[in-house]
Amino acid sequence: MSEHSLRPTGEISGKKRPQDQGQRTLLDAIRSVILFCDKWGVIREGNYQARQWRSQEELIGKNFLEMALHWDDPAERQRELMQVIRTGKPVWGSRERAEEHGVEYWFSVDKIPTRINPTGDDGVMMVISDITESVHREKALQDSEARYRAYIANSADAIWRYDVVPPLDVSLPVEEQIDLLIQRSVLVECNERLARLFGASHVDDVIGMQIYRNGSLTNRHDLYTFITNNYRLEDREFARINHKGERAYMQSSAMGIVENGFLQRAWGTTRDVTQQKRYLDRMKYLANHDVLTSLPNRSLLYRRMEEQLAQRKPEQKMALLLIDLDRFKEINDTLGHSTGDKVLKLLGPRLEAELGDTPGMVARLGGDEFAIFLPNIRNSQQAAVFGHRFLDSVCQVFELEGFRTEISASVGVAICPDQAEDVGTLMRYADVAMYHAKVSLQGVAIYDSEHDPHSAKRLELMGALGRAIRENELLLHFQPKVNLKTNRVYAVEALLRWNHPEIGFVPPIDFIPIAEMSNLIYPMTLWVLEKSVAQAKIWLEHGYEIGIAVNLSARNLLDDRIVHDLDRLLKQYQLPGHLLELEITESMIMADPNRAQTALARINALGVGLSIDDFGTGYSSLAYLKRLPVQTLKIDYSFIRGMIDNDQDQIIVNSTIHLAHNLGLRVVAEGVETQAVYDRLSELGCDNAQGYYIGRPMPVDETEAWLNGSVWGVAKSDTAPSPAG
Ligand code: C2E
Ligand code: CA
Ligand code: CA
Repeated sequence: MSEHSLRPTGEISGKKRPQDQGQRTLLDAIRSVILFCDKWGVIREGNYQARQWRSQEELIGKNFLEMALHWDDPAERQRELMQVIRTGKPVWGSRERAEEHGVEYWFSVDKIPTRINPTGDDGVMMVISDITESVHREKALQDSEARYRAYIANSADAIWRYDVVPPLDVSLPVEEQIDLLIQRSVLVECNERLARLFGASHVDDVIGMQIYRNGSLTNRHDLYTFITNNYRLEDREFARINHKGERAYMQSSAMGIVENGFLQRAWGTTRDVTQQKRYLDRMKYLANHDVLTSLPNRSLLYRRMEEQLAQRKPEQKMALLLIDLDRFKEINDTLGHSTGDKVLKLLGPRLEAELGDTPGMVARLGGDEFAIFLPNIRNSQQAAVFGHRFLDSVCQVFELEGFRTEISASVGVAICPDQAEDVGTLMRYADVAMYHAKVSLQGVAIYDSEHDPHSAKRLELMGALGRAIRENELLLHFQPKVNLKTNRVYAVEALLRWNHPEIGFVPPIDFIPIAEMSNLIYPMTLWVLEKSVAQAKIWLEHGYEIGIAVNLSARNLLDDRIVHDLDRLLKQYQLPGHLLELEITESMIMADPNRAQTALARINALGVGLSIDDFGTGYSSLAYLKRLPVQTLKIDYSFIRGMIDNDQDQIIVNSTIHLAHNLGLRVVAEGVETQAVYDRLSELGCDNAQGYYIGRPMPVDETEAWLNGSVWGVAKSDTAPSPAG
């Protein structure tokens, strides 16, 4: 507690009675301290409050300077006092500050010359009121006001207040409230942000604006949300047309003030989220679309399919069509990637035009693969008709700045629910069908479960096959190929075996087609290639220059990775290319002749030999094969097996050998089971032979024993002539 606060500390009594009793009573009744000073500025008397405030010794006979020791600038205060006495002019309400022990006090002091009093004595009457509390309150208010102004002015958000004049009865029906709010809400306060949002340069230009002019395209709906959400908005997004006529996106929060059942006003903030929204929209777009063609991408297609499949009515049929371009790689290679890109870009609109008003989605799955999902078809025939229409539109000539190019494609169709009811299986079946269309040169094929009777078993095997590749359940057997002139082995064919831990040996014809249907075919082939290259290298280091032939699948040949991986393996194991040979079938080449031809040429460039497997069973003519970079034909064992008894077969074998030789190709006969066949082939001038008569497919150790021990075996290369046909 301080001696300066106007609180009672003791009694002082007036020495003199300058006024009559009535005046005195009046002065004592006043709640301020009243001091009378003489013309020297010495305190002579105080009222009741003064006596409560200070003891007599502290006041009476003291000048103001002594009394106001803790006042700010007491000398100046004394000077003012003397000036009032001298001039006879009163000073009202001077604000004076005192500070003691770190606590500040504020007084309002009136200094009134007593000369104007009836008593006439020169002197001054001081009326001192403690205003500490109100000064503090006022300062706090000023502070918060300043803070608030600064906050509003500097806010990155637009801040505003709408008054509702007259206030709105919140018990009215919502629709009516909306109408009235639109009529009655007027902007009364805002910061510059809001002004700028409205295209004005100054706050004054927008004050008084009615709410319906805020540009929101969803004004009524915004108000509806505000009203029904208890007169609040929380981060509500809306679009508005700004003063330049551009669409912009806003986010507003607001709070209405309801008093006695009437909405008086609303405070709120608005933020321009246009950039943010554009960015997010762009990200969303990119996540769902293919950048090159702007078509929906795989993930959007899958999601749309999931949605539609979930909503499918029992009788509703859907179709998924997969389109794979046949010669696309050739366009890329010969005309350049930018031309390839142009073709892909043109394809989207073509497919979409073909779709027309039919509900559906055209998507790009990547590379030259497109998909079309039709969520509502009558039957599978209709899907096939669509397939042909899409195919026709793809096959139309592309006119590209001076170029004209044509492409073909293969279309696979899977039908829901006839064949599958989930996205994954539909995709796989459409892929199988597409592949079938490609290999069989049909253009369009519908997945046929009759061609896939063990699909459940196959599916199971497929899972197991993935594991088999990882866990070394696969192994290679090797079957010798001999030269019919030297009767010596020159190469072996690597044949894949799967030793399933429960089923035992699974024959290749049971699991290779499954691998071909899935993505496993590539890792599987890579595994065979690597094992074979490694094995050939081991033999070479042991002095046996034995070639190894590896069977390829159609998918491998059309896979862009194959050439690169072959090159890598040969380098890694330092194996001369001529000790590796790849066996490919005719149908594999005919699936996409130009693309296959490109791949074959590249493989050949690595020095790797190529032979046409199962020759005679496919469609190709020898004349066509002449154009391919292959060195060997393997006559299919169906002709060889029966050639002794069947003249027809023998004629085919004979003429194939001659024609092949004319074309500079070597000929291998496979499936040689007897000496009779072996001898006949020798007479016909066939180059090489392979079959049970010579040797069965054998595991690696048996193969090595065979190489050393059998009559067909080779001597080490330092003594034997160079092998091969
Ligand atoms: P392919 O390439 O025509 O292989 C020759 C098949 O004929 C082998 O069957 C072989 O065991 C069998 N064979 C050989 N000599 C005779 C014979 O004198 N008489 C009879 N009746 N059969 C003989 P396998 O090993 O069951 O292979 C079957 C097919 O599986 C192969 O036919 C080939 O198309 C495929 N295959 C095998 N390994 C692989 C591989 O690593 N990758 C790929 N893609 N396919 C492979
Ligand atoms: Ca083969
Ligand atoms: Ca064969």
